[in-house]
Amino acid sequence: MNIILLGPPGAGKGTQAARLVEHHGMRQLSTGEMLRAAVAARTPVGIKAAEVMARGELVSDEIVSALIDAELVAMGPATGAIFDGYPRTVAQAEQLDAILAGHDRKLDHVIELLVDEDALVERITGRFSCSSCGEGYHDTHKLPQTPGVCDKCGSTEFARRKDDNEETVRTRMAEYRKKTAPILPFYDARGIVTRVDGMADIGAVTDEVEGVLAQGA
Ligand code: AMP
Repeated sequence: MNIILLGPPGAGKGTQAARLVEHHGMRQLSTGEMLRAAVAARTPVGIKAAEVMARGELVSDEIVSALIDAELVAMGPATGAIFDGYPRTVAQAEQLDAILAGHDRKLDHVIELLVDEDALVERITGRFSCSSCGEGYHDTHKLPQTPGVCDKCGSTEFARRKDDNEETVRTRMAEYRKKTAPILPFYDARGIVTRVDGMADIGAVTDEVEGVLAQGA
């Protein structure tokens, strides 16, 4: 199964993707994560992307689509894919169709997480994650059970994303409204979009997402 999680920054795409990976052995394909890894490793792609990302703008369609294609090659055909943060433009959505066809895959579901934008700024600026296993936390909604120690792996190192500050978040949201939201009619026309209340608690959102997967391909 191949699904897209769509929604503005902070909607909970990464959180839900991590749960699907755990429950179904699917693979999360997050272009944001891939780009952050490229920036950290100072690869040519990372060097090109770093400033664009710091401003909260979008990296070129060609770069991200090439990352996705390479990831699908590495994955092999049996593993389901969860696209998280990709596609983000209509051009990327068209490129994804071509990439999937090239891997004998097809898109089964698009899940749009509906959220209240004002709440997102608070969600995003408070979030941090374990540097070792990537488990996500939040200053007010989800602190580690033992202060300073990751619940999942015991690490004491945590990190915040450089682009999770209010100014950059506002730009990222404007980019979402302008360039990503127009993807929805493209998928609506195929009847594969399900809308889920992304403001509900994490477990309730997961239940709804699982319901969509239970519909099958
Ligand atoms: P994310 O982790 O999905 O919030 O992405 C962080 C940043 O990486 C975004 O603000 C963009 O600068 C860049 N990025 C991630 N995915 C894409 C994409 N599909 N297209 C263009 N830029 C992207």
